[in-house]
Amino acid sequence: MGRAFVYVILGGGVAAGYAALEFTKRGVSHGELCIISEEPVAPYERPALSKGFLLPESPARLPSFHTCVGANEERLTPKWYKEHGIELVLGTRVKSADVRRKTLLTATGETISYKILIIATGARALKLEEFGVSGSEAENVCYLRDLADANSLVNVMQSCAGGNAVVIGGGYIGMECAASLVINKINVTMVFPEAHCMARLFTPKIASYYEDYYQSKGVKFIKGTVLSSFEFDSSGKVTAVNLRDGSQLPADMVVVGIGIRPNTSLFEGQLTLEKGGIKVNGKLQTSNNSVYAVGDVATFPVKLFGETRRLEHVDSVRKSAKHAVAAILEPEKAGEFDYLPFFYSRVFALSWQFFGDNAGEVVHFGDYSGSTFGAYWISKGHLVGSFLEGGTKEEYEAIANATRLQAAVEDLAEVGRQGLKFALTV
Ligand code: FAD
Ligand code: NDP
Repeated sequence: MGRAFVYVILGGGVAAGYAALEFTKRGVSHGELCIISEEPVAPYERPALSKGFLLPESPARLPSFHTCVGANEERLTPKWYKEHGIELVLGTRVKSADVRRKTLLTATGETISYKILIIATGARALKLEEFGVSGSEAENVCYLRDLADANSLVNVMQSCAGGNAVVIGGGYIGMECAASLVINKINVTMVFPEAHCMARLFTPKIASYYEDYYQSKGVKFIKGTVLSSFEFDSSGKVTAVNLRDGSQLPADMVVVGIGIRPNTSLFEGQLTLEKGGIKVNGKLQTSNNSVYAVGDVATFPVKLFGETRRLEHVDSVRKSAKHAVAAILEPEKAGEFDYLPFFYSRVFALSWQFFGDNAGEVVHFGDYSGSTFGAYWISKGHLVGSFLEGGTKEEYEAIANATRLQAAVEDLAEVGRQGLKFALTV
């Protein structure tokens, strides 16, 4: 049993949706393109799962957040794929790939062959078991990567109103879920190993603003320790969390956000890997000419930094997917992918954006007791990264522009005094 396509996208997440739209904009014939996804639904904007999806009032539900609404583009419903002659093979896991033969074998036993493959398999959430703690299978221990996880998180949350949640991990999932739990009237304690939240990006000063804000909403922080085990009741539900420092926290539910691993396993030994992802060039092409990789799974050259990176943020996913399609369909015209890293988050009434790299020396600016403040990262006399909370569209554009141009900085203290004016006048 088998089918053949010109183009196959393996994975049906954010990258797949944006790639599909780009294929139709640049011209693809009916029957040429196929998307294979383990998930049972058409590509959707994954960021909605930790935000609008978890709201107690008028929560976001599909079909409202199918790609590509997150970039103010067309919403691609299953009907759209049908109308454009794109084959959506949903609820189907690919269990092996052969890049020499250009075939994929699905768990249902079908062989799908391609001329060009785009790997868009994203990543999976790390499990506590990988850190030696068991209990992930308990019904009130929640992870958040896909729609099924989000649905079960909502169910667990609804059964815990007024109760206690322990959030493990102080990264993006931890911070966004903690805010959503509070909005759902659940008492939250966050536990993470670092000295402050969002340790890979935030400075201690930035982090303390958000931690103070969260504390004002009732969130408790336990830092510098990790969970060591769970207590269970007779039905197998978690009732408490034991920490390595010896303390115990009562828990009606637990949310775990301790990082991800890219889904590379199908291609290990077949394609070159780097920094945990599939290595691609500036055209998003892997070590095999017929295979491209985009999104969370790809390690690509960031021209601005002169080195390769693997990013886990939706803007780079969308843009890398579009660029790969351009490189496939118009190889002579498409240049090298030239990307300015962009991260953001929205929690409670707060909203921040970050551009570039958090390397070198840092200068804080603005009013850290008010609502608009930020930071610049300066390396070798040039601006390489910028962060802003509570900015306007123009202000975010200005810091992005100044960072992309790597504006020269002579006097760090002066740039700190100028704050946003520095970026606005570059
Ligand atoms: P994914 O969207 O993960 O899609 C991968 C797809 O491949 C999935 O459908 C998966 O089922 C499928 N797949 C994998 N292996 C196989 C296989 N063997 N066979 C078939 N199918 C397979 N980023 C931001 O910048 N801002 C945000 O606010 C933000 N919020 C987020 C909130 C949540 C809850 C999560 C989980 C992520 C968030 N992100 C955010 C990150 C962003 O969503 C990811 O960077 C993005 O989804 C990655 O896109 P992708 O297409 O590479 O992978
Ligand atoms: P992150 O990498 O952001 O954060 C993981 C956190 O868990 C870190 O604080 C990490 O500490 C900590 N940690 C690691 N191991 C343990 C452990 N054993 N016990 C306790 N804490 C631990 O990953 P998330 O899970 O938060 O997010 C998953 C993915 O979703 C990421 O790709 C992220 O980019 C994406 N996402 C993005 C959002 C956004 O951009 N707004 C929103 C939601 C998700 P350490 O640093 O020391 O390893």
